[in-house]
Amino acid sequence: MTGTKVDANSGSQIARLGERVLLGGQISRNEALTLFNLESSADIFDLLAWANRIREHFKGNKIHLCSIVNAKAGACSENCSFCAQSSFYQTGSPKYGFVDPEPVQEAAEEASKNSVTAVGLVAAWKGLNEGPLLDEVCDRVRELKASGKTRPDVSLGIIKNQRIADRLKEAGVECYGHNLESSRRFFPKTCTTHTYDDRLETIGYLKKAGIKICSGGIIGMGETREDRCDLAFSLKEIGANVVPVNILNPIPGTPFEKNDPLPVLEILKTIACFRFILPRQEIMIAGGRTVNLRDAQSMIFMAGASALMVGNYLTTLNQPVEKDLQMLKDLGLDPSWDNHGFSDQEEGSCGSGKESCEAETVAG
Ligand code: SF4
Repeated sequence: MTGTKVDANSGSQIARLGERVLLGGQISRNEALTLFNLESSADIFDLLAWANRIREHFKGNKIHLCSIVNAKAGACSENCSFCAQSSFYQTGSPKYGFVDPEPVQEAAEEASKNSVTAVGLVAAWKGLNEGPLLDEVCDRVRELKASGKTRPDVSLGIIKNQRIADRLKEAGVECYGHNLESSRRFFPKTCTTHTYDDRLETIGYLKKAGIKICSGGIIGMGETREDRCDLAFSLKEIGANVVPVNILNPIPGTPFEKNDPLPVLEILKTIACFRFILPRQEIMIAGGRTVNLRDAQSMIFMAGASALMVGNYLTTLNQPVEKDLQMLKDLGLDPSWDNHGFSDQEEGSCGSGKESCEAETVAG
């Protein structure tokens, strides 16, 4: 990956694509692939600098913080190869039923103290059907919303009809987490108990209900750069509002337990490529950040990330939220959001606070 050869041509190609995105244009899949395939550290740092400019242009200095509550842990019927909570693997992950109101309120309290915009209730199960459990989920969402402390988000797996999505919307869900995980091509290597199309169908119901979509994936599962590129274009196609990028933290007992970690520059380059492809989206660095990036964590913002999952993950630990807040402060980044909402991602507006940007009126 690293090298000393500096190629002036790739530098000017990165600049040409970066300028185009800044001016409101898009890059093609082939152009994106040339970015994913950059090898020298000089080229990668060039790419990061452009991704940082794109982030600053569309997002200003705001960083969205999210946290999650494991609302139902372990014993999941699905066989996702990266997951500690699947019943297919012996991982020692905790198991419990759907969460009571108290831990959710405590998480909301903690979140609001730390400038965290949203708390997501995440359940380890295949999906949600109509019935008493859906009633209980809607109760937790209403309680969280009524507290006024954070935005109540959820990640509840596969939804099989429109009525369920509509009920979640009525209860107050604004954003639903449902990752595509990887490219359509690579997906069967991560899971065989449900399909890519099941996931797309769920996203369709949610969008129709008027719920925003938090959808991304995991890198470091053995996928190729092409798979990462195709995932980013699929996320663009479905209109994901928030794009979590997780970096595999291999869990002993799962099929991916022996996967080699991705090099740090490969991770940062991937985030930067996502920023080029998805200039207006919230690109959120989620699971696996601390363990994979170590001292390079703060560079995710230079790579174009505009959101951060803070606090502990579902089954693994993160660095303390105070450390993350200090990191943002040191970089002049601002995690405060007044209304727990989304920055505008529509064409014709940008995160810089201006009504519209002159640059966005220029075709790329
Ligand atoms: S990722 Fe979700 S659906 Fe897959 S095994 Fe884990 S909890 Fe179940």
